[in-house]
Amino acid sequence: MNPYPHLLAPLDLGFTTLKNRVLMGSMHTGLEETKDWNRVAEFYAARARGGVALMVTGGMAPNPEGGVFPGAAGLYTPEDIANHRIVTDRVHDAGGKIAMQILHAGRYAYSPKCVGPSPIKSPISPFPPAELDAAGIEKQISDIVIAATRAREAGYDGVEVMGSEGYFLNQFLVTHTNKRTDDWGGSYENRMRLPVEVVTRVRDAVGPDFILIYRLSMIDLVPNGSTWAEVVQLAKAIEAAGATILNTGIGWHEARIPTIATSVPRRAFAWVTKKLMGEVQIPIITSNRINMPDVAESVLADGCADMVSMARPFLADPDFVSKAAAGKAAEIAPCIACNQACLDHTFSGKLSSCLVNPRACHETELTITPTDHPKRIAVIGAGPAGLSAALTAAQRGHSVTLIDKSTELGGQLNMAKQVPGKEEFWGLVEYYKTAVAKSQIALRLGIAATPAMLSDFDDIIIATGVAPRDPGIPGQDGPNVLSYIDVLRGKAPVGKTVAIIGAGGIGFDVAEFLVTEDSPTENLEVWLEEWGVGDPAQTRGGLRPEGPKPDAAVRQVTLLQRKNEKLGKHLGKTTGWIHRAGLQMKNVAMIGGVNYEKIDADGLHISFGEARENPKLIAADTIVLCSGQVPERRLAEALIVQGRSVHVIGGADVAAELDAKRAIDQGTRLAAIL
Ligand code: NAP
Ligand code: SF4
Repeated sequence: MNPYPHLLAPLDLGFTTLKNRVLMGSMHTGLEETKDWNRVAEFYAARARGGVALMVTGGMAPNPEGGVFPGAAGLYTPEDIANHRIVTDRVHDAGGKIAMQILHAGRYAYSPKCVGPSPIKSPISPFPPAELDAAGIEKQISDIVIAATRAREAGYDGVEVMGSEGYFLNQFLVTHTNKRTDDWGGSYENRMRLPVEVVTRVRDAVGPDFILIYRLSMIDLVPNGSTWAEVVQLAKAIEAAGATILNTGIGWHEARIPTIATSVPRRAFAWVTKKLMGEVQIPIITSNRINMPDVAESVLADGCADMVSMARPFLADPDFVSKAAAGKAAEIAPCIACNQACLDHTFSGKLSSCLVNPRACHETELTITPTDHPKRIAVIGAGPAGLSAALTAAQRGHSVTLIDKSTELGGQLNMAKQVPGKEEFWGLVEYYKTAVAKSQIALRLGIAATPAMLSDFDDIIIATGVAPRDPGIPGQDGPNVLSYIDVLRGKAPVGKTVAIIGAGGIGFDVAEFLVTEDSPTENLEVWLEEWGVGDPAQTRGGLRPEGPKPDAAVRQVTLLQRKNEKLGKHLGKTTGWIHRAGLQMKNVAMIGGVNYEKIDADGLHISFGEARENPKLIAADTIVLCSGQVPERRLAEALIVQGRSVHVIGGADVAAELDAKRAIDQGTRLAAIL
């Protein structure tokens, strides 16, 4: 029986048919910029083999001024076209279809040469755009049209014209960025002239039998954003201009509302796309925080869209669709929407990958092949590092025994899943449980490994993780002091006023845990109210006039660090601001530059600066230690003393800045070469 009848149904576009309702949405991975076209081709071909109906490439610049950054990839020369042909041929051989996204960044281009409708700098870019004159606008249109014709020449099945997320075309639509008084500004008719003209001319140039997706911003989430009436007017005009499919864009990049982070509820914006259903006759795609087949199926079954776009889930698992079709959804590596290895990499100028799948974008470099010399391998520690090493080694044909002193798999993932807004970690732990159960791994849980018990193994992998760092504060042994482990594992009661020592990832997580009673991520209505998201039919751009309205904090929390800098500065590049904003909305006090003097029954005594001035009491019922971690290497050291050779990975190797991304990557890479 077909487990997902809506998701797996074909979609007839007239001149071509998509084999199911799954679009792999555009992602800027940085692969094209490597110019290793075999690698680019393998990335897309792997997803085509995995059954996705249609993929959209990362954004290709139509011209240098429109590139997201200087040197951004585009189709400029016959050589570029030939290189893209390598990709499209490989995708077609794998039975897939692929469209090229044309992305003109306008004022979001990270370049002093950027252009826009009006010379208004964006809050997320240092460069004010040059205001285009009429000839300049004509050049942009013509460059986009040329890019589309070259895409066709390169063998693409279509193009996606990027009209959302606050990029160039979107910038013409709203008065927030378009102050023009000529034919391209003023009335909405004028402001939407550019996107409509682009679609009309692209269609004329590419002919009727070429997929033309227009990505339309359905809820801008910025001040003076589009009204719903304007969204509908634009959608109808884009349809009339010749688009084949409308895709959904949610929020401009400068919006101060999270739209894809893990704390955003699943399918949080499908209701926005649903409002457009019936207004146009062409298929509509919905998007954002759809990460598992049951979520995608429900979105389609509820009539929210004709098709779903998922992007990051295809980094996490290229075989998403084929596993879903085979009734093996539990075996899909889930995208937990953390952004840690994808968007955070993109915004740091690094090649993308995926926390749960280090092979993403590294398909040709990190290969996992059957071993010619099967060994007996012991893996100690069933956290992310140990699990990925054990699974990879077993997949290669080694005989693997996985030992953990805990009775549950997952290590620190089991703490992360307790944090409001990090519920996706439950799915990740479940995925690992399924993968281990399906493997040949011999599992020994609830057993503290000793050197004696490891004598028969050819290789020993130590993934024993971390132990909390001792901050050495006078009074820290008092009854009012807890470690983050006590708190996140729910082992100890926490008072109404709390001081948290340490503001790294775990300090922030503990603060979120302590101020939140019911996670808004589990309740869409509450989440929308918390962040001030309204119906764009009632409020321009979907911003509620009253702004964010979070639930009151259930505790009064103070978060502290010794460094004299903004708290949370080192959190994820694309998600740190969300954690900070979320805690600020809950009135969490954040204090940096402190010395911890002592803890007593009244709370935490601090001072400031090298001279230890301005002594202050942070009155608190409970003090929670989140002062970082040190490697847990006792077993490794005992084995080394005995002259045994061990491989030490994850937190047991280096605790500083440990996260699941590094742990999983290291575990997978080690096991790939044993
Ligand atoms: P961390 O990020 O290294 O932060 C440790 C905190 O403790 C810092 O605020 C540090 O600030 C403080 N500290 C260090 N030594 C101290 C001492 N001797 N006395 C008092 N305070 C001290 O470590 P973590 O918060 O335990 O997180 C561990 C890792 O897990 C992090 O690398 C993080 O990436 C990962 N993680 C990530 C997330 C996420 O959302 N991505 C969430 C949780 C954990 P000062 O030195 O300035 O006082
Ligand atoms: Fe998803 Fe995180 Fe992987 Fe990005 S790194 S694809 S957000 S799981």
